[in-house]
Amino acid sequence: MSIKKSGVDEKVKVVCRVRPFLDHEAPDDSVAVEGSEIKITNQRNTNEIVSFRFSSCHGPEAKQVDIYEQDVQPMIGKVFSGMDSTIFAYGVTGSGKTHTMQGTEDEPGIIPRVAQYLFQRRLDYPKHTVKVHVSYMEIYKELVYDLLIPREGQGAGLSIREDSSRNIFVANLTDREINSLEEFDHIYNNACKNRSTASTKMNVSSSRSHAILSFQVTVAMDNDEPQKDDDSDTEQYALSGKINLIDLAGSEDNRRTDNGKERLAESGAINKSLFVLGQVVESINAASSRIPFRDSKMTRILQPSLGGKAQGMMIVNIAPGQSYFMDSYNSLNFATKSKTI
Ligand code: ADP
Ligand code: MG
Repeated sequence: MSIKKSGVDEKVKVVCRVRPFLDHEAPDDSVAVEGSEIKITNQRNTNEIVSFRFSSCHGPEAKQVDIYEQDVQPMIGKVFSGMDSTIFAYGVTGSGKTHTMQGTEDEPGIIPRVAQYLFQRRLDYPKHTVKVHVSYMEIYKELVYDLLIPREGQGAGLSIREDSSRNIFVANLTDREINSLEEFDHIYNNACKNRSTASTKMNVSSSRSHAILSFQVTVAMDNDEPQKDDDSDTEQYALSGKINLIDLAGSEDNRRTDNGKERLAESGAINKSLFVLGQVVESINAASSRIPFRDSKMTRILQPSLGGKAQGMMIVNIAPGQSYFMDSYNSLNFATKSKTI
């Protein structure tokens, strides 16, 4: 299969999204979006302005549907021809990652919109067997948990294995076939509950873990005109593509937050996995021959969908306002290193 690359040769594109001020926040103009450029001003200090340019920038007025139509749909549509894609929401806690990925009932985010799209597109393939499978996992302190089943009994989590053809997979991860949007909504809502119950029990915030939702779409292609008398001659093959949608752990400067052994171990795991992710994206975009997929669980798991024939996108979420200046600066810097120059 040949893959067309559109425009710039960026395998993992980087976009940013600034959320609006919330009701309890005092608005200021320290963040400005102009076209594909974002400018942040350090009003507390020297009024120093730092600006960054990305594939696209969405200001606070951007709606869920805008992000979806401009950036998400053009990428994930190729799943029906076997193309993998991976979308990350990056940013500090409170910057809008979960809003972007999951959203609310009134303002559904990327995950429910992608699900809706898949079942709608499936109607375009009346002669083929199209199957949609979903899995949903959480990585907390470099341990992998299944979110489609309750946390009890999952112990120290699932292990990552490699089969004889060197395919990497998470052993025993639930992989559910879903047949309708309603079925997906039901399973997804339960999984979100599993996630928050598990984190409450462990007395940690769910913003300390990465959540990876994956859709696997398989299109079984038959010969258009099968030989009537000889079914065995009918050539059959399948195209299989995956879409990974990831709500990353908060990228805040963890040295600043809290104390205690437990929080430190957490912070260490988050810092390391986000650092490795940045390096992986940077190496992919620089077409480097050594990509450090193996240096963290998340990148190992995502390796098949990030390398080779895959496409990715990192959405850098920014909270507006002076109090987030350093956080925004760090997030945008991280993202800048990840994109091709
Ligand atoms: P994160 O997951 O990065 O910690 P959230 O998605 O929970 O952040 O967002 C923090 C708060 O801001 C939530 O109350 C959320 O509803 C709100 N919010 C985030 N993005 C938007 C947006 N684009 N429009 C309106 N409210 C938003
Ligand atoms: Mg969140």
